[in-house]
Amino acid sequence: MKQVDTLIVGFGLAGLAYAETLYLSNKTFQVIDAESSGSSAIAAGIYNPTVLKRFNMSWKGEELHAFALPFYEAIEQRLSSRIKYPASIFKLFSQVSDHNQWTVAADRAGLSNFLNPTIYSSSIDAVKSPYGYGEVNACGRIDTKALLNAYRLFIGDAYQQDNFDYSAIEHQRDGLIYKDIYAKQLVFCEGYAMVNNPFFQHLPLVGSKGQILIIHAPKLKTKVILKGPIFIAPLGDDRYWAGASFEQKDKSLLPTEKAKAWLEAKIDQLIDVPYNIEDHVSHIRPTVVDRRPLLGSHHKHRNIHLLNGLGSRGVLTAPQAARWLYTFINDGVALPNEVAINRFEKTV
Ligand SMILES: Cc1cc2nc3c(=O)[nH]c(=O)nc-3n(C[C@H](O)[C@H](O)[C@H](O)COP(=O)(O)OP(=O)(O)OC[C@H]3O[C@@H](n4cnc5c(N)ncnc54)[C@H](O)[C@@H]3O)c2cc1C
Repeated sequence: MKQVDTLIVGFGLAGLAYAETLYLSNKTFQVIDAESSGSSAIAAGIYNPTVLKRFNMSWKGEELHAFALPFYEAIEQRLSSRIKYPASIFKLFSQVSDHNQWTVAADRAGLSNFLNPTIYSSSIDAVKSPYGYGEVNACGRIDTKALLNAYRLFIGDAYQQDNFDYSAIEHQRDGLIYKDIYAKQLVFCEGYAMVNNPFFQHLPLVGSKGQILIIHAPKLKTKVILKGPIFIAPLGDDRYWAGASFEQKDKSLLPTEKAKAWLEAKIDQLIDVPYNIEDHVSHIRPTVVDRRPLLGSHHKHRNIHLLNGLGSRGVLTAPQAARWLYTFINDGVALPNEVAINRFEKTV
């Protein structure tokens, strides 16, 4: 029987961040993943600690950004695989009053580290920017697909493709047995699929479907990430990631014609060069009612844990969330109240 410190179920950004946290602490692990393309595999992977729609900072934006970037850089170096693509974001203004909001925001503590105060009115080739734009620095894209693939190769036999069978868990005094694995701890990192997990179904993971298009636009030639009604992010070879929709009701994984038409209309608002659609994909973001991660241990089975609720900012949130959960499980450090699952468990 294989013995490990931790069994990780699910290998998106959450599972990867937890595996890396264990690796850095010299702990052993086994990953079980259905490999059915989670949310992480289709994300643009944009890291941006600001909320450009509201001209403010995202939750713990600066702290998460400061923790996440060195985390990915260390993986990039160790794996000799390019995963981080720094790029400014150009926020295209939609009305003149945005200028004032930008100037005020760029002067605010925290935001001033990211927002360049200049209002640019020069036109950008192939881009519709009648009201000008502002620049966000220290942003970019993590190639999440490349990251997951490279890390999977790195951990070798510690990755296993399988659909986890909850009924096969045998609870032991100081751990658990799952088929031929003995683990002291089990951490579920299943993204939106958590809604089927009998241990954590009571938690309010609402989910938000996102659909995107991959387009080929040889005349666009931009190296920055454009942010208008949607993001358009360069992938190289004249291909761009364009998205995403935010849909609350539809929880199917299938892309829809309605969202495709909506995305095309937004792309047309943003650029004025021809493009071909190469792909159209969708997944569900693991969003929570209060927009905070879900971290903690099962109220009865104390060696079964949860790392979920990364929402629409998995790239920046996953490394710090994994660290919080790790120190909670291994060192008894309390989780921040905002992320602890017991905020929803008063009556359990
Ligand atoms: C369209 C779109 C665009 C996005 N863009 C960005 C972005 O630009 N920047 C950003 O930071 N975030 C972005 N996000 C959000 C980001 O993708 C998520 O926050 C993050 O990927 C969630 O990671 P996760 O590991 O929790 O879940 P997932 O990536 O969904 O991974 C879960 C994994 O668990 C596996 N799994 C589930 N259940 C089981 C089981 N029972 N047995 C075995 N395996 C199982 C799945 O197969 C999957 O591999 C985007 C999301 C979407 C949908």
